[in-house]
Amino acid sequence: LSERLQETIQKIKGKGKVTEQDVKAMMREVRFALIEADVNLKVVKEFVKNVSERAVGSDVMKSLTPGQQVIKIVQDELTNLMGGEQSPIQFNNKPPTVIMMVGLQGAGKTTTTGKLANLIRKKYNRKPLLVAADVYRPAAIQQLETLGKQLSIPVFSMGTEVSPVEIARKAIDQAKEEHNDVVIIDTAGRLHIDEELMQELKDIRAIKEPDEIFLVVDAMTGQDAVNVANNFNEALGITGVVLTKLDGDTRGGAALSIRSVTEKPIKFIGMGEKMDALEPFHPERMASRILGMGDMLSLIEKAQAQVDEDKAKELEEKFKTQSFTFDDFIEQLQQVKKMGPLDEILKMIPGVNKMKGIENVQVDDKQMGHLEAIIYSMTKEEKTNPDIINSSRKKRISKGSGRPIQEVNRLLKQFEDMKKMMKQMTGMSAGKGKKKMKM
Ligand code: GDP
Ligand code: MG
Repeated sequence: LSERLQETIQKIKGKGKVTEQDVKAMMREVRFALIEADVNLKVVKEFVKNVSERAVGSDVMKSLTPGQQVIKIVQDELTNLMGGEQSPIQFNNKPPTVIMMVGLQGAGKTTTTGKLANLIRKKYNRKPLLVAADVYRPAAIQQLETLGKQLSIPVFSMGTEVSPVEIARKAIDQAKEEHNDVVIIDTAGRLHIDEELMQELKDIRAIKEPDEIFLVVDAMTGQDAVNVANNFNEALGITGVVLTKLDGDTRGGAALSIRSVTEKPIKFIGMGEKMDALEPFHPERMASRILGMGDMLSLIEKAQAQVDEDKAKELEEKFKTQSFTFDDFIEQLQQVKKMGPLDEILKMIPGVNKMKGIENVQVDDKQMGHLEAIIYSMTKEEKTNPDIINSSRKKRISKGSGRPIQEVNRLLKQFEDMKKMMKQMTGMSAGKGKKKMKM
């Protein structure tokens, strides 16, 4: 998990209760974040639906760490969306394994061909042969040959005069003779998909059914990458996707959509121009990365802040109408608990720090536990209407909470002070039309 995610989990962990409304607000933000990250709309809908269904389940609501659970669900569903598990290369047990690289011009086919050969040699200890089947641009052949030289991996080429189909056939023959157990064919791309290109690719495919047809797509192209993947898949039947340029400033939405739109796994990601910048795609890690990079998580936080703000408004109304009760008080205590020491919070509220009576509201964490105990020992009526708490009631509350009677008295006094103070405050800020009370 990324550091950022950890941090946020720490923050949300304290959330003692997640209501359906919380989840709704969260999902609104998640939905927005996904759309902004260029994730396919249908995918977003499905995703939000799945997460919401799971998140409002009673298990989550009743769990001790609902905030964390919701994050876990978001992460799980993101992982599922991207295929769940890492999808390995399919090797043919009768060599050579044939891998065909296809995709639009500039997507990163030639570069990825080199990277993939490098990875296959290193990780699987195999002997790849690279095939220069992009005959439309002389530079393309040169580019592959240069990479081959750099990696000391053989490159098969026949110049630009021979058809790609012929080149591929001869290359596979040579691989058998020279005991190259993997053949990676770098094909030509176009700026747009066209019939001619597809026909050529189908002809190459027909020589010897490839074990893998990897579509190389540029992650920077966002939604377009998904459309391209869909088209190639329909025309050619790809077996997997390599998403390149994820090292760049991409919003990453393509990674989320491709799998669910094409039902073909992302197998590798390109993380740079160098020959070692190709990584197996791990859906779970990507999910963490997305959450970590986390516009999403900060938005979740924002959504929660929003919920708190709504509560604050509601509260303000109660102060104004003098209907603030001990039930509200304890809810506030719980909210405040996760924000930090109460006196410091109060001091952060404009105006309060200069207010008389603030020194009476100093509360630390341990004391807060005591306050809770006292309040929980009150009857519903007492909580709503503390004025009725006479000395015999005080005694009973003291006994019930295990706190001395002076403490009960002090709390009642504090509660009254607080009510007065809040009334003053809301009165003050109402005039300015801006009330950013965070408690
Ligand atoms: P092709 O036309 O599909 O063969 O694309 P190329 O392999 O020639 O790549 C096009 C450009 O993208 C080149 O400048 C590559 O260096 C660059 N490129 C490819 N993959 C990546 C990647 O994962 N990250 C970055 N930053 N650049 C890449
Ligand atoms: Mg190329």
